[in-house]
Amino acid sequence: VLSLEAVTKRFGGLVVLDGIDMVVGRGELVGLIGPNGAGKSTLFNVMTAIYAPTRGKVRFKGNDITGAAPHLICRHGIARTFQLVRTFLTMTAFENVMVGAVYGSGGRVRHAREAAETALDLVGLGAKRDVTTAHMTLSDRRLLEIARAVASEPSLLLLDEPMAGLNPTEIRQMVEVIRRTRSEKGISILWVEHKVDAIMKVCSRVVVLDHGVKIADGTPAEIVANRKVIEAYLGEPVA
Ligand code: ATP
Ligand code: MG
Repeated sequence: VLSLEAVTKRFGGLVVLDGIDMVVGRGELVGLIGPNGAGKSTLFNVMTAIYAPTRGKVRFKGNDITGAAPHLICRHGIARTFQLVRTFLTMTAFENVMVGAVYGSGGRVRHAREAAETALDLVGLGAKRDVTTAHMTLSDRRLLEIARAVASEPSLLLLDEPMAGLNPTEIRQMVEVIRRTRSEKGISILWVEHKVDAIMKVCSRVVVLDHGVKIADGTPAEIVANRKVIEAYLGEPVA
């Protein structure tokens, strides 16, 4: 569904993404890993049109969406979560999810309500629908962000470190929700994560960025045996 062609992003003299080519196919669950500052979140910001790439193209379902309006990106079928959770703290869980649902449905309110209810149930927050977000745990707010994204009925979901700050029980729950989002909703997922063992267990393919360059793209087995990947994480050559 998604393809990047030679995507480069510079901030002044700093090259943050350097000629990235990659694809995410329909229904795929792809992991995106790499050391801090590798450019993972910036790549999401380019995919969701928050930043225009300095060079290169973003194609989605055959359309060039490189210059898309950021607030309309979910109408194209892309939804995301944020590394630092961005739920609306004064609103209830349901109201948060309605924001995604209304954007995704283009204002069809009855349809949006159904999509919001379904998305809350998918992540297991149905019973907390009337809780104000400010009173929710980090884990629930991360799940809520996924529900808000899913409620816009995307074909591609971008997850930016959904497990950061969660305990082992919450992590297991998160893995279940990610798996279910793909299998029950058929949504393609690109998942940025520092918890590499979870990525290796759950994803069929893994892409590795380092210093803005794609250094590997393959099955988990290929990635764990890749010398360039090991060196990128160690920050030094392997003897
Ligand atoms: P982490 O794993 O720590 O989240 P990341 O792979 O998501 O890292 P990015 O947040 O994409 O990394 O940042 C990549 C580089 O781009 C960093 O050096 C960062 O400081 C720089 N950068 C990101 N956004 C901007 C910006 N708006 N202006 C200038 N530099 C930026
Ligand atoms: Mg990041």
